[in-house]
Amino acid sequence: MRTVLSVLLVSVLFVLLTILTQVGGILLLLWIGITYLLRKRYKWIYKTWMVALSFPLVYLAATFALIPLLAQFGGRTALPCFGNGSLQPLTLITCACNRQYVTPVLREVAVDAAKQMATKYHGSKLYYLDANFPFIDGFPLIPHLSHNNGKKLDLAFYYKDANSGKPLDGAPSVIGYGVFEGPKKGEIDKPKECAWQGETQYSLMGRIIPQDKAQLMPFDEERTKALMIILGNDDRVKKMFLEPHLKTRLGLTGYAKIRYQGCHSVRHDDHVHIQL
Ligand SMILES: [Zn+2]
Repeated sequence: MRTVLSVLLVSVLFVLLTILTQVGGILLLLWIGITYLLRKRYKWIYKTWMVALSFPLVYLAATFALIPLLAQFGGRTALPCFGNGSLQPLTLITCACNRQYVTPVLREVAVDAAKQMATKYHGSKLYYLDANFPFIDGFPLIPHLSHNNGKKLDLAFYYKDANSGKPLDGAPSVIGYGVFEGPKKGEIDKPKECAWQGETQYSLMGRIIPQDKAQLMPFDEERTKALMIILGNDDRVKKMFLEPHLKTRLGLTGYAKIRYQGCHSVRHDDHVHIQL
């Protein structure tokens, strides 16, 4: 009975870790295997509590020291996770889950855009959200439909202080998704259209993510527009997804590569999606 429960628990963890981090499930099996092989020499190491306590450390060590090296062989590189550079993850969870991998060209695109924004707006940070996993073209980065080949990246919008109007770092959503800059009266309203079509996933994040900072950190139209223009003018970027009401509001209708993703996807008025 105990063995059946253990196998069940490991199987569930394997699936969850694979969906969330790609390599976590494999690392778990490897670590269980290593502790099993070492059990004769070190009796204490193959205990359930010991494996459970040591695995997070093994996982983090592999994630930050080993995976970035191995990913290079498959043509992917990690976006910067630490330090005070102009390009940063909005949350370190992205890096802890191995969701910050891109091709070298896309890394350059993001770093270049971040530097230009920092120069233009006194050290403004550009925050990235989900990118891709480190290995295997076609491996889906759930819940994203297309982040599966190193060539896709989501970037946070810019926000400002509601009282002073001054630019702020960070975003009102802890993960960057789900606090929408929705259509104003008279603007194109795709969220409404998609809701009519019964596409419940379209605005789902807005119902999950806490909205308490939305009033305190309004959308910074000026800096977000500047970022869109930098990316829009970068020939390496082939496609960008942005909600049509923002494309119009920010005066970006001249950019054919800034497109609407369709109701089958999710809203793009909380972040911009770029791809090579
Ligand atoms: Zn995306």
